This record gives sequence, C-alpha cells and structure tokens, in this order.
Amino acid sequence: MSTRFPQMAPPESTYFRKGFGLKQDVEATLSADYAGQIVDLLRAHDYRLTADGVTVLLAREFGFCYGVERAVEYAYQTRHKFPARRVFLVGEIIHNPHVNARLRDMGIEILMPVDGVFDYSVISADDVVILPAFGVSITDFQTLRGKGCVVVDTTCGSVLNVWKRVEAYARDGYTALIHGKYYHEETRATVSQVEKFPGGTCLVVRTMDEAHDVTEYIAGRGDRTAFLAKYAKAASAHFDPDVHLARIGVANQTTMLARESLAIGDVVGTAMAAAKGDDYRRENFRTFDTICSATQDRQDAVNALLLDPPDVMLVVGGYNSSNTLSLAAMCAERVRTFHVEDALCIDPARGTIRARNPVTGVEGETAGWLGSGPVRVGLTAGASTPNNKIGDAIARVFATRGVDLLALP
Ligand code: SF4
Repeated sequence: MSTRFPQMAPPESTYFRKGFGLKQDVEATLSADYAGQIVDLLRAHDYRLTADGVTVLLAREFGFCYGVERAVEYAYQTRHKFPARRVFLVGEIIHNPHVNARLRDMGIEILMPVDGVFDYSVISADDVVILPAFGVSITDFQTLRGKGCVVVDTTCGSVLNVWKRVEAYARDGYTALIHGKYYHEETRATVSQVEKFPGGTCLVVRTMDEAHDVTEYIAGRGDRTAFLAKYAKAASAHFDPDVHLARIGVANQTTMLARESLAIGDVVGTAMAAAKGDDYRRENFRTFDTICSATQDRQDAVNALLLDPPDVMLVVGGYNSSNTLSLAAMCAERVRTFHVEDALCIDPARGTIRARNPVTGVEGETAGWLGSGPVRVGLTAGASTPNNKIGDAIARVFATRGVDLLALP
C-alpha cells in the first residue's frame, strides 16, 4: 500500500507498485525489443570504435535509466498478467516514441492530456491503468482509485524522494522553489504533493534568468504585478511574492542540469542572506539536490567524454525528454552538437543529419555534417532511449562514410 496517499488506503489486490513477479516471462520480449548488438560491440571495445577515419566514442553512462527500465518492464508484465483486459497508460510511459509505439502495438492505450487534464471517463472498474515513471498528480491518483480499477504504479523511487522533500518543505511552511518545467508531468505531480498541505505553496523556475527574478524580488527590486503575471502558470494559485518568498526550500525536477540546479539554490540563498542576514537565511532557507543518480551519472559521463573533446557530439533522445535536453545543452557549450530524436534523422545516403540546435531549439537539416577527413564523434543518449536505437544511430554514422558496422571483422 502506498504511504504517499494515506487517506486513500487502497486495497492490496488492485494497487501494485512492484510488478507481478513476472520478470522472467517478459525478459526475452524486452530484450528482443530494446537490446542493442552494436552498443554491446562498443562496450566490448572500451566504448570506442574506429573504421575508415571515423571514431565513435560512447559516453560510459547513457540510455535507459533504472526508473525507465523498471517502468517499461512493469508495463510488459501488466500486459502479460492481464491479456484479456483493457490496459491504459496515463500519458507516455517515458519520452520515447518507439517505446510508446511498441506499447500501443501490445494493445495498451495511451491516454493523452488536453491542456494538462486527463479524461478518465473511459475507465471502468474492469480496466487496468498504468501510472508512468514520472508519477501522476494526487487528483489523478484519487480519481483512478475511485474507479476501482487495477492501478499499476511505476512512479520512480527517485521521483518519490523529491515528493518527500517538497512535502517536508510544505509541512514546515516553506515555499517549494522547484528548478524544473512547470508543464512537465513529473513537476506537475510534484506540485500536487506540495499543494495537498493547507497553504502549501510552489514556484517553478526553469532557468537562472528566472531565478534572478526571484533574487531581485527578495532584494526588494521586484514588481509584484509583473511577477505574478510572468509566473501565473508556474506558481500556486494563491502565491504572493510578498508573502511566499520569505521562507524558501529549493528542490529540482530529477532530470535538470545538476550544475544549474545547484547554482540556482546558491543565488537564492545568497540573496536571502544579503537582504536579511545570515541568521535569517539559516532559519528560512533550505536546499536539497534532488537530481536523480541516473541523471547525474549521465551528465558526469558526458563531462568525462568532453575532457578530450571530440569534433562533434551526437545526442540521441526525444525533443521532449528533459534529461536529453540537459545533456545536449552541456555538450553544446563545448563542441558542435547535434541532438537527434531518432537514428532515422541521420541519412547516410544523402550525408545529412536532421537535428535540433540545443542553443536555439530550432530543428534543421545539415548536409556534410561528418566532413570527409578523420573525425571523432562523441555520442550519448537520454534516459528514455533504448540501446537498439542508440545502436542504429551509431550504425548510421558509420554508414555515412560507407562502413557497414556489422560486416566488420
Ligand atoms: S531519470 Fe531518474 S527519476 Fe527519471 S525515471 Fe530515470 S531514474 Fe527515475
């Protein structure tokens, strides 16, 4: 039974958080769907492979994280356990189009929100509903429990840790200042954990520029009307900057750029001390790094790769994948970077790549991106990208120079 929603006390028989003990039954299918022969080949060659002047360097941590692996496995177990029942998923299980398409192929229906709101009218007590790794809001959870259907909750343990942290802030009267994207599923769910407390208040900031709006306000240089207008969607409905910036607890969406989260916590704490003194800050400011270890490991691995910068970085993962965007932003600071949402964006026949520019956010096609001389291509992938898709991208890089990777001795 969940301890997150003590008021609900769902019966054990319809609420599952640990799968169904069917791992062995779905292992072969999972492996066939997502394992990657080419990724295994690179691992066996110390994460680098060279052929015809092209060297691909793979970051040592990349791709599926523990939370995603678990969520996808539980979805497969759920289908296996209930072959004859309708199975629904609340939004995308992770931000990867192939994984979501595969689940649809298995007959799992993905409910998509309209303006952030899910329509659960189609769900009946006979159905099975899977909650994604990002978690869902308390309202959504309660609505689904009220339906009497089977609920399979794949919320990642690292997300639950963020919830615990912001709950403590709200309980103790601190405004939860979250470094994240207010519209992201995970952050929406986190905000609901804060607002379940009477007076619980949240403010979500996405960038250091937005954190500076907060520090300016703390310093007494803010404009209340302008602040409220700018953060109308990113703050609790009752948020008042004159009241709710007096006590602040900082947390972050698990997949943000760790360095930026720490810097945001730092400037806000410093602004509080500058405005009201160190004692005030000690009493009224808290911060806690809630970046998950998988995100941190992938960012650390990219930093290690960039110590000897390759000529080009390739980042594979959905354009709506927060952790992938963070990886691409890190790479773009140091190296020419192409963020592709899929291996198919690399066209070996035409020598082109269709990619999102991590700085401008604009997608475009580049011809001759690999050049014709020796080139070192660094590669990483977001936590929602399976190994077979990473392998496809690597194969297409080599194929752009006419090398068939699987035909190599
Ligand atoms: S990125 Fe982190 S928080 Fe998100 S599912 Fe993976 S392990 Fe969990």
